[in-house]
Amino acid sequence: MSDFDYDLIVIGAGSGGVRAARVAASHGAKVAVAEEFRVGGTCVIRGCVPKKLYVMASRFADDFEDARGFGWQVGETRFDWATLVAAKEKEITRLSGLYEQTLGNAKVELIRARATIAGPNAVHFSDGRTARARYILVATGGAPVLAPHVPGLEWGLSSNEIFDLPTFPQRLLIVGAGYIAVEFASIFTRLGSQVALAYRADLPLRGFDDDLRSRVAEALTGAGVIHHPGALPTRIDKSAGGYRATMSDGETREVDALLIATGRRPLTQSLGLERAGVATRENGAIIVDAQSRTNVPSIYAVGDVTDRINLTPVAIREGHAFADSVFGNAPTTVNYDCVASAVFTTPELGTVGLTEADAMKDFPALDIYETSFRPMRATLSGRAERVYMKLVVDGASQRVLGAHIFGPEAGEMAQLVAIPMRMGATKQDFDATMAVHPTAAEELVTMRSPARRHRR
Ligand SMILES: Cc1cc2nc3c(=O)[nH]c(=O)nc-3n(C[C@H](O)[C@H](O)[C@H](O)COP(=O)(O)OP(=O)(O)OC[C@H]3O[C@@H](n4cnc5c(N)ncnc54)[C@H](O)[C@@H]3O)c2cc1C
Repeated sequence: MSDFDYDLIVIGAGSGGVRAARVAASHGAKVAVAEEFRVGGTCVIRGCVPKKLYVMASRFADDFEDARGFGWQVGETRFDWATLVAAKEKEITRLSGLYEQTLGNAKVELIRARATIAGPNAVHFSDGRTARARYILVATGGAPVLAPHVPGLEWGLSSNEIFDLPTFPQRLLIVGAGYIAVEFASIFTRLGSQVALAYRADLPLRGFDDDLRSRVAEALTGAGVIHHPGALPTRIDKSAGGYRATMSDGETREVDALLIATGRRPLTQSLGLERAGVATRENGAIIVDAQSRTNVPSIYAVGDVTDRINLTPVAIREGHAFADSVFGNAPTTVNYDCVASAVFTTPELGTVGLTEADAMKDFPALDIYETSFRPMRATLSGRAERVYMKLVVDGASQRVLGAHIFGPEAGEMAQLVAIPMRMGATKQDFDATMAVHPTAAEELVTMRSPARRHRR
């Protein structure tokens, strides 16, 4: 210890870094964590948490409409953006405080500074200090990438800024087709914006099951979102009332704001990785092994900066596994099978395991079960909405390889269905499970015959 100021310096107090720091300290390590912005990281400050709060805010629009079918007389409603932004700010400040408290309770030193790597065991802080550590953990996360590089792109906002827009955008153009783009389209259209969504492909959400992708696109259209599939802005100009986006499909859109949600990249620029010789991929992602160790034995990396599965629970699990392995004498690797995820459009999407298209590449025999039905609430509300569920089943072993759900609470369902799937449950195990009635989830255990079979 004498050669080192700390056993561990963590760079980045986000999902992965905070967990790693706390657990390492609980194993007796002397730990410091450096944070250049706000403790809690992307998820707490400008990702999952504020996003989900805004999703909740947006869903009241549907609730007010639906309530009428159940006998409620709903008076005039009015949405106030400033109230939502302030309430969100209060909540994320509270959460950030809790994270700080957790670090303090664990005796982790919080260094409020930007940190850069000065060598295999040395970290330099923007307050001028340099410290030596036996181990360094890079947990710097990711940053938005704004594309395409067209004139006027600098007028575009990233997801970092959209949460705190000073004025509510009555007209919003969103560029991108990933989960962040569609979630914000769903949020802002319900809060009252006129939203247009421009993306390169035919459908948004590349990588998700095609049957969910088409349903999300339809639901966005139903909620008032104008799609520009296969079209991107070719230039953006400032106009009298806001901005004018000229699109590659020949249209122009006058908007108050543009959200550019065209992806994220690992945050490794100017981090000093080269000073220690840490290897990265072309996109900047730090290359790590199953233990999250880089090519430099004293430097590890977890979370989005490694670009494995860029989700909060994964970053947390990686941070925990690192701390247990290095300081807890309990070598641990993260299992990436059956990582469930959700896309919080309205209705939302929940998914676990292989898509039908991916399973077709790997499995010679597949049974595809699907169901589509009107949710109970829609019977009285009159809302034109259908739930869709698909199970992708290995024809040989009958193991459930994929579950894809589109409908209310699909994220909650995906979390639960991930457990039997990880345990290797077969379709017969699903069938043998008694239903909970009346729920939408009961359909997961009552799909009797395949909608189609693939054999090769
Ligand atoms: C809009 C949005 C919505 C999302 N929604 C979800 C969701 O619903 N569910 C989900 O699971 N995931 C979601 N994510 C992804 C999730 O936020 C990330 O996967 C997660 O935060 C990654 O954790 P991390 O520890 O790798 O990095 P981060 O949480 O990004 O933390 C990195 C931290 O490092 C700090 N930092 C960076 N460089 C330095 C430096 N040189 N010195 C000091 N500090 C530094 C940053 O300020 C930051 O606080 C969302 C992301 C976004 C952007």
